[in-house]
Amino acid sequence: METTRRRYEPSTTNGKHSEQHSEQPAQWGRAWEVDWFSLMGVVSLLCFAPFIVFYFVMACDQYQCSVSQPLIELYSGESSLSSIWARAPSFSWSAAQIYTVWVCFQVFLYLCVPDVMHKVLPGYVGGVQDGARTPAGLINQYQINGLQCWLITHALWGANTHYFHWFSPTLIFDHWIPLMWCTNLLGYAVSTFAFIKAYLFPTNAKDCKFTGNVFYNYMMGLFFNGRPGIVAWTLINLSYMAKQQEVHGYVTNSMVLVNVLQAVYVLDFFWNEAWYLKTIDICHDHFGWYLGWGDCVWLPYLYTLQGLYLVYHPVQLSNVHFLSVLVLGVVGYYVFRSTNHQKDVFRRTDGTCSMWGHAPTYIECSYRSGDGSVHRSKLTSGFWGVARHMNYTGDLMGSLAYCAACGFQHVLPYFYIIYMSILLLHRCVRDEHRCSSKYGKDWKRYTDAVPYRLLPGLF
Ligand code: NDP
Repeated sequence: METTRRRYEPSTTNGKHSEQHSEQPAQWGRAWEVDWFSLMGVVSLLCFAPFIVFYFVMACDQYQCSVSQPLIELYSGESSLSSIWARAPSFSWSAAQIYTVWVCFQVFLYLCVPDVMHKVLPGYVGGVQDGARTPAGLINQYQINGLQCWLITHALWGANTHYFHWFSPTLIFDHWIPLMWCTNLLGYAVSTFAFIKAYLFPTNAKDCKFTGNVFYNYMMGLFFNGRPGIVAWTLINLSYMAKQQEVHGYVTNSMVLVNVLQAVYVLDFFWNEAWYLKTIDICHDHFGWYLGWGDCVWLPYLYTLQGLYLVYHPVQLSNVHFLSVLVLGVVGYYVFRSTNHQKDVFRRTDGTCSMWGHAPTYIECSYRSGDGSVHRSKLTSGFWGVARHMNYTGDLMGSLAYCAACGFQHVLPYFYIIYMSILLLHRCVRDEHRCSSKYGKDWKRYTDAVPYRLLPGLF
């Protein structure tokens, strides 16, 4: 902390405003030309992401979660693409009914459940909340009631499992591949609608910061971000746990660990739903395929691979392994949450808060919105003075913990940490590009004071 405070002193004195402001905050938002590298990434994802999801789920369904076996069989001629495709369960009307009921129920909860949690839970922020200022200078409002919707959904799931027995707790697992066709239908429908709407009848034309590339615009974009995908995440894991019990007659400590660590992450998301309004997803990424299809298909299918794997490979961890993973997960979560919390409190109190027992130091900066007005902002210290994205570092530690809970026999459960590393490194670059355009010289002062992105001394 002391180091951080000293680092900031050239530009600010504790709690006192700096007089240096960037003269001409450049244009920001996403009105930039897409380079060839990004374009190739976007087109590849649009073409292959649905097949990546299918590949992993099919590998578990037909090859005991081996990622290499399908390729070996294809290469040796033992299997063909059409025989693999023919063995995969197809679309079913019962899956379509389950999915329709699920999405309608979540829409109903989102629209009809009034937020009362802020009255009973100290520190919880709910109800209608302001988002961040958009490039056009507007502040949108969002309904925050995800925590209640999550609790109601899980209470009903628990009541069904232990009391009503309307459906089997393995329901999600039992329809997993037919459900995948339904999630794809919704994912493509919603992203295509958002894309057409943004071009033809946008809510606010000044906030349409398109790049010059149609594929990028299609890909990048509150209901869809949190629900139905993230509410389902913990139910999917519970369904895997029930399936492991049904198939093997017991539940492994690894399955419990994955369920608990991921449930903490999901609950954290809903407890801090108002904070989420200030993240890059909501503030800067337009709603498109990345968020629309991603939250319908990619997230529920690939973020839950660990639980799926453990149904096929019930790993019982030694005490040392269990404890090591638990510690990694808890420390990762602490760094992730504390970093995000520090920024949230700092921004909400405009810097008049305590951080690690002191008033935080900060760099004062200014930027210009599309309507020409100049606004002021501040870049804080705390974890943000240790490295510029310690929240990503914590997230990556937690992600590694989920994977390591599955042992070291197969690559498949490690897909998540590989994917998260690529996602968050790419985010670092995207975010810094945006902050540099937004804050100009002030951002440079920050990067001079805090030179590392994720790990002090390394990167
Ligand atoms: P951040 O929460 O890190 O937000 C970055 C923004 O914070 C910047 O654009 C800037 O915005 C502001 N900022 C930067 N430096 C400072 C500073 N020193 N003080 C105050 N504000 C600063 O980014 P994300 O939205 O990407 O991530 C939010 C969380 O979500 C992370 O913990 C991430 O790990 C997690 N996440 C998880 C994903 C998953 O799939 N599991 C996917 C994506 C994210 P401004 O313009 O306001 O100054």
